[in-house]
Amino acid sequence: MATPPALSDVLVIGAGFGGLAAALSLAERGAKVTLLEALTYPGGCASTFTKKGWSFETGATLFSGFGEGQLMAGWIRRHSLDVRVDVLDPMIDFRSASFRVAVPPQREGLIAAFCALPGAPADKIRAFFAEQQRVADALWALFDDPSLLPPFTASSLWRHGLRIPSYLPILPWIGRPLIAVLARHGLESWSPLRGYLDALCQITVQASITEAEAPFALAATDYCFRGTAHVHGGIGKLATALAGAIEKLGGNVHFACRASALRQEGGQWVVEARGRTFAAPVVIANLLPQGLKSLIGAGTPALDQRALQVEEGWGAVMWYLGLQKDADLPQNALHIEVVGDPDRPLVEGNHLFCSLSGGDEDRGPGRTATVSSHVSIATLRRLPAAEQGPFVGAIQAKMLENLAVFAPEVHRAIIAQFPASPRTWERFTRRAHGCVGGIPRRAGLHNYQNFLPSPVLPGLWMVGDSGFPGQSTLGVALGGLRVAASIS
Ligand SMILES: Cc1cc2nc3c(=O)[nH]c(=O)nc-3n(C[C@H](O)[C@H](O)[C@H](O)COP(=O)(O)OP(=O)(O)OC[C@H]3O[C@@H](n4cnc5c(N)ncnc54)[C@H](O)[C@@H]3O)c2cc1C
Repeated sequence: MATPPALSDVLVIGAGFGGLAAALSLAERGAKVTLLEALTYPGGCASTFTKKGWSFETGATLFSGFGEGQLMAGWIRRHSLDVRVDVLDPMIDFRSASFRVAVPPQREGLIAAFCALPGAPADKIRAFFAEQQRVADALWALFDDPSLLPPFTASSLWRHGLRIPSYLPILPWIGRPLIAVLARHGLESWSPLRGYLDALCQITVQASITEAEAPFALAATDYCFRGTAHVHGGIGKLATALAGAIEKLGGNVHFACRASALRQEGGQWVVEARGRTFAAPVVIANLLPQGLKSLIGAGTPALDQRALQVEEGWGAVMWYLGLQKDADLPQNALHIEVVGDPDRPLVEGNHLFCSLSGGDEDRGPGRTATVSSHVSIATLRRLPAAEQGPFVGAIQAKMLENLAVFAPEVHRAIIAQFPASPRTWERFTRRAHGCVGGIPRRAGLHNYQNFLPSPVLPGLWMVGDSGFPGQSTLGVALGGLRVAASIS
């Protein structure tokens, strides 16, 4: 006789930060939750993995939401998580051929650093940042108090009503690219600020300043100032602690348990995973639309449209570097952002984000660095199969070249190096074609569609970076929280 399926109130497929947040939030509300993760560890794109004795950040390295009252800090406090976070100063060491800026954890310090550059138009810079702050304050308030995000209640709508004046600075910029805001302040050609924002937009809203939807980009300009921190020992520590918190609340977390099929049966959703069957009236898929389509064996018009948007985005080309323990590097963790040629697109090795672990972290034989650069998935997929490997190889070579020029102290310290490509991402995180980073926020009103959580099919929901608010660990975690609120 077949074993009956393991029953729960909610099944979550995927323990990325979207799935972890949804599962924890539902477990906190008393639901019996089962979380299935294909890998042997949680976190997905924001995890820590080990290879040959080294311990590396997989992708994400710099996290916001750890400030007083913010989401991540609330989790650590409520569940007494054994997680230490370090606020870094500088938060990012930005290096390009024409200028360098050490980005401090406060806006005022960044403004002062730009104003101190030779020939800086200080009044225009201050006016730009004053406008930027008004938009960022309005939008970050929604992240700081997620009950203001959809689904709305009568109370949240009332509070939105009271806040209408604070939203007015956003209105002129809806549907317009960030470059228009710089132009309004006469700064579109001032290369230090333009270059810095261009690079920041690429790693946050996943689009250049000429494309990025201004309200999102103006909010993302505050990325380093909003409870932003390094997780000591790796973001995997937080992901693991969250999985532990779910279990403490009575949830079941299964690692190395890939869901291979999802179907409706007798009013329940049934998931096949590693020879076992799980059932629940509600399933949350922490997957790309492509992954969900292949699980249910069919698409829907909404899933198909979202899948196309994901494929207009990016893949990540990586170096995971093992560094000498006693290398001549600062003791703190450090993020070095490099722009090689500011006149070329900030992709394909011309732009790197290099994150060094702290000197007092246990990362194996020495310190580690995770280095990433963007590659267009559409460009890569257009190449014949035989040319894709060499194309990615050339990007990896360019990355090391730029590292040697702009971060020689890191390059000199390399004693082990492991490359990765979109294909590696696809193999490990099962993200179709290795698409990462979510749907780019390119200017347009489409950015404001589909922000109300709604099921894909009755009882079947999605979380993750292809949804709203998407992008970044905090973004996907907030999305998971709001889906949990809708379900409960
Ligand atoms: C190189 C890089 C750098 C980044 N830097 C930052 C940063 O500094 N700060 C920041 O906040 N964000 C950063 N991001 C973005 C951030 O990592 C992502 O937005 C976020 O982690 C995505 O989370 P998610 O929950 O949507 O999905 P994922 O992280 O992809 O999680 C999905 C999970 O589902 C699992 N899974 C897939 N299929 C199945 C299946 N069939 N059955 C069971 N499990 C399955 C996967 O193994 C994975 O663990 C970065 C991303 C990349 C790629």
